[in-house]
Amino acid sequence: MRYWELPEHAAEIGRKALALLEARDLAPSPVNYDLWFAYAVGENRELIRELDAAVENGSVRDLNHACALHTKYIAGARAGAIDDLTVTLQTQISQLSRVLKGANKDTRAFGKTLDAAADQLGRDDLIPHLRAIVENVASATRVMQTRNEALEQQLESSALEVRALNARVEEIHKEAQVDALTGLANRRGFDVRLAEAVARRAGSNSSLCVLMGDVDHFKQFNDMWGHSAGDQVLRLVAQCFKGHTQENDTVARIGGEEFVVILTDTTLEHAISVADDIRRSVASKKVVRRATGETLGTMTVSIGVARFEPGEATSDTIERADACLLAAKQAGRNGIAAQSGRGVLPGKTAAASA
Ligand code: GH3
Ligand code: MG
Ligand code: MG
Repeated sequence: MRYWELPEHAAEIGRKALALLEARDLAPSPVNYDLWFAYAVGENRELIRELDAAVENGSVRDLNHACALHTKYIAGARAGAIDDLTVTLQTQISQLSRVLKGANKDTRAFGKTLDAAADQLGRDDLIPHLRAIVENVASATRVMQTRNEALEQQLESSALEVRALNARVEEIHKEAQVDALTGLANRRGFDVRLAEAVARRAGSNSSLCVLMGDVDHFKQFNDMWGHSAGDQVLRLVAQCFKGHTQENDTVARIGGEEFVVILTDTTLEHAISVADDIRRSVASKKVVRRATGETLGTMTVSIGVARFEPGEATSDTIERADACLLAAKQAGRNGIAAQSGRGVLPGKTAAASA
């Protein structure tokens, strides 16, 4: 436990953090509080420097910037702590192993000296009981050497285990952001990438858009053909989303049959055309049951398109994309709808946008 986690210190630093927030007229939201608590602790020089700079240039009020700092220094650091722990363990084991190897070498040399001395004493037959003492010490040394060697082997196998553990921790970090059914990013992966994308575009003029897609009448399909056929549809839809986006874009499945895309460096007009390409691509596919070859029909998606407006919270962009999706559904499904200003354009149905 760190000193600032002890109740008496935590209370004192918490008060300092609140005073810092108040002095800068910032809301004590969980993200702000976390950041300024760390600032009050005073250990993380980089974070302190970035927060001071954010106060200086005004970005301290930008919720996205605060979230990006939080991901970088607080949430990311927590995840990194496990990695650090395994790396530390690995280093300690390697050091211990090196020390033991050195000690073992010394013990072996000492044993050889004792053996030589016992031989010498034997040949000269000078002092028999002295020779017995030396032989005793030499045999105790050999026992110690055997034990050291066993310990050394144990340490080596521990080091291997820690290395494997390390690799597994890394895998788990990655797996935690991936949707097992489609291989796309999941909700967690999406949140991380969106925060990164917004942080990257800060200060530039590049446009960032979000598509929010949802499979139409999916419940009906599931009810008629079963869950595993439904899963097959989700994989097919995932391919259509992936196939019409670039390497740098992020496609995620964030709920049952809900897909989102982060389009970096993309204007609203282009995002609308990407959304329509995806919509057409889904509608053009025949769903065939793999096991029997039976055709189950076609599926459609509706997609909402929104652009991130500088200064807003990403949750506002997502809400707008969601409102557009709803408009597309209400306009008859198999269509897209995009924002107009910060509002929503009427949905375009397949007929209107074909
Ligand atoms: P709408 O056009 O309004 O979107 O209607 P819908 O039927 O697609 O929407 P609704 O929200 O009523 O139903 C979604 C269905 O998605 C319900 C659930 O059975 C199904 N579902 C959710 N997750 C999965 C999944 O991982 N696999 C499968 N096969 N089905 C899922
Ligand atoms: Mg849905
Ligand atoms: Mg649906």
